[in-house]
Amino acid sequence: MSSSKPKLAIFKFASCDGCQLSLLDCEDELLAVVGEVHVANFLEASREVVKGPYDLTLVEGSITTSHDAERIQQVRKQSRFLITIGACATAGGIQALRNFKDVGEFTAAVYATPEYISTLGASTPISQHVRVDYELRGCPISKLQLVEVLGAFLQGRHPNIPTYALCLECKRRGTVCVMAAHGTPCLGPVTQAGCGALCPSYQRGCYGCFGPAESPNTASLGGWWQQLGATRPELVRAFRTYNAWAAPFRMASDAYEHERT
Ligand code: SF4
Ligand code: SF4
Repeated sequence: MSSSKPKLAIFKFASCDGCQLSLLDCEDELLAVVGEVHVANFLEASREVVKGPYDLTLVEGSITTSHDAERIQQVRKQSRFLITIGACATAGGIQALRNFKDVGEFTAAVYATPEYISTLGASTPISQHVRVDYELRGCPISKLQLVEVLGAFLQGRHPNIPTYALCLECKRRGTVCVMAAHGTPCLGPVTQAGCGALCPSYQRGCYGCFGPAESPNTASLGGWWQQLGATRPELVRAFRTYNAWAAPFRMASDAYEHERT
């Protein structure tokens, strides 16, 4: 079937599919999106696969195998615009925890015949392999931000996605600060907004799902956490979750692990 609409493709690499599901989760907005594009390649949702080139490609997941390192080159060649979605694709994901250790030790502990496992020593973001036109953060991404990014590229403008810290979302919705009121450690001051301050609204600290905010002061926040009783190993673990390989969080966890702060 041919169509004059822009062709949209979605490709998966090492990931849990949660970010792709955000597109299906758009519900009301999904019909509007489908009305504007020809969904040419979306194996999660449709068996129809239309060959490239594609006008807009969404990539979920990180690069963890040499095969995927080659495959992403082919995806890039077929794509006019390439947007990475989610912490896996933009920062290596939780699977980037392997980057801090010897992956051979993990495969030996988990698999009966680890010699059958062919995997790279590190999980890396897509931007480390090919040119990326836009990175949308989150684990998972926000469906409203995804619709904004799709709309922006279809209209030829830059996406209007905030890069400020999560604390602003807390203030905007009137959520009482869990760190100030209850002494609960929270990563919100160094984490990019986008989730709507979900965890603080349930009296929990932020876990950093949306990765580092613009100019995050991780050393200052670490000092506050220590005043609240957090230990260095707890700080290492806090910075090593979904966005552990994002540079500011990686440097912060390294510093607390090697006692440089
Ligand atoms: S970023 Fe999170 S939700 Fe998205 S694919 Fe990776 S693990 Fe799943
Ligand atoms: S609860 Fe966390 S994100 Fe919200 S204002 Fe306090 S420190 Fe910032």
